[in-house]
Amino acid sequence: MDRRGGSKKLRTIHELIFGPHLLALLPALTLAAFWTGGEAMMLLMALGLPVLYAALGGMPDLRRDLTETGQQQNDLTDGDALRSLAATVLNRARRNRCTTACVLVELEGLSDIDPKPPERMLSEVRFRMLNRLRSTVRSSDRVTRIGDQRFAIFLTPDRRMDLEGMLHLARRLLNMAEEPLYYGRTPIFLSASVGICLSSRLPDSARNTAMLDRAEEALDEALAHGPSAIRAFTGVPLRSTPPSSALREDLSQALEKGEIAAWYQPQICCDTGRVSGVEALARWLHPERGIVPPGEFLAALEEAKLTERLAEVMLRQSLTALKSWDAAGLGVPRVSINLSGDELRNPKLSDRIRWELDRQDVPPERLGVEILESVIGGGIDEVVERNIRALGACGCEVDLDDFGTGDASLQALRRFDITRIKIDRSFVAHVDRDERQRRVVAGILAMADTLGLETVAEGVEGSAEHTLLAQLGCGHVQGFGIARPMPEPQFRKWVIEHRGTLTHSEQLRHRG
Ligand code: C2E
Ligand code: CA
Ligand code: CA
Repeated sequence: MDRRGGSKKLRTIHELIFGPHLLALLPALTLAAFWTGGEAMMLLMALGLPVLYAALGGMPDLRRDLTETGQQQNDLTDGDALRSLAATVLNRARRNRCTTACVLVELEGLSDIDPKPPERMLSEVRFRMLNRLRSTVRSSDRVTRIGDQRFAIFLTPDRRMDLEGMLHLARRLLNMAEEPLYYGRTPIFLSASVGICLSSRLPDSARNTAMLDRAEEALDEALAHGPSAIRAFTGVPLRSTPPSSALREDLSQALEKGEIAAWYQPQICCDTGRVSGVEALARWLHPERGIVPPGEFLAALEEAKLTERLAEVMLRQSLTALKSWDAAGLGVPRVSINLSGDELRNPKLSDRIRWELDRQDVPPERLGVEILESVIGGGIDEVVERNIRALGACGCEVDLDDFGTGDASLQALRRFDITRIKIDRSFVAHVDRDERQRRVVAGILAMADTLGLETVAEGVEGSAEHTLLAQLGCGHVQGFGIARPMPEPQFRKWVIEHRGTLTHSEQLRHRG
């Protein structure tokens, strides 16, 4: 302990005497040496000082300063070098009483591209992504690729850096990473998750690699809840769930403050390739935890009796978005919202929905309501039944969600006026490679055809699945392979880009 304290003191004295300022003073010192000791003294000073400086370890420091402010290193895949960089950045921030942060960004979807792209294309994608990330931060921030699809950003120490600012930055990075990237004419759609650790959140006793370690844990947590998740180390263990009553209070506030937002995932018509619908999925834009997916808060919302409010928020946002897409001429025919069993047990639900449609002047047939098969199979609640019938009767489209996963799929079809069935992701995965899977999906599609039901396949992750589903006669597809759920402004851009690629391929077809 003492020894370490002593060497630290020595280093400080060394830095004080032999810091970079010494070289700046060299001309003055040389001149002074000439006046006082003649030519021999001048030569000794001019040549001896830099040699002494280098011998005492001053030169490597200077070289490090130059690399950090000048040319940035693109790749840093050696774990030890990365840890040493993280330690250097943290030590400097601590010494200058500033805050720094380590932001880790992991691309998602690169390994899912089907068929597997050539290495040349992957390295170009990585390189362009690195440049995109660099263009999102300041030139003095250090951005480097640290793994196949992982990037590290070390921010220039600053006195005013805080978590809110970091979350804004993380969102900007996500948006940037999720902009489609063109390889030739082929668009590549990726998403990303982000893990953050701010040095100010670490205890003083934390090791100098702690900032990187905590950012890695935050990223793991984000990846487990992704796509497009952001997690920050906040000083409390990430995996501890807040006490139920606090979470309830947070959720109620979140709904009122507009932190719970609809994200949109497109559905594509297999015949035309056009956008045929869009599903609204709830996201909690948490000021500290980042983007929280519904799986983490729906149960608590239900427990807190807040589902009615969620349905209101999602409906209002979705209809407002639909109208704005109409105004922009995007041609999105309809939007669907999810209704849980709890929401459907609200006796006023169908009236509320009709009232909102009326208020926003949206025809009911442009709204889809997705109802889980498990909710309307078996012994069904009378209020639920009344709500579903009323919504169907007023013209809304009723979609049977997660079709095939419950044990009452056919009963639900017999009982209600269903417009579409959404074939669950578990049937769709690897349908292009798995013969048994293919036969089950073909059977569901044949049944839907006989019953006059439209079909949407969920969880389509690759182009081979998409092609096979179209060949089997599936009506529409939805999934990461087409696009991930996105916030409204990004969805709008995506639709415009998608239309552009369609027009281009239509032109090619006509020319061919
Ligand atoms: P869901 O209705 O089955 O929605 C589809 C889920 O699958 C979404 O997860 C979506 O992000 C994810 N997904 C879409 N394409 C793919 C794919 O290609 N691969 C994989 N692995 N996943 C894909 P998310 O948004 O986390 O939603 C989870 C569930 O939470 C939803 O399942 C829905 O049941 C519920 N939910 C979401 N938003 C709301 C809401 O506003 N109200 C209610 N009541 N439930 C909601
Ligand atoms: Ca759904
Ligand atoms: Ca589903």
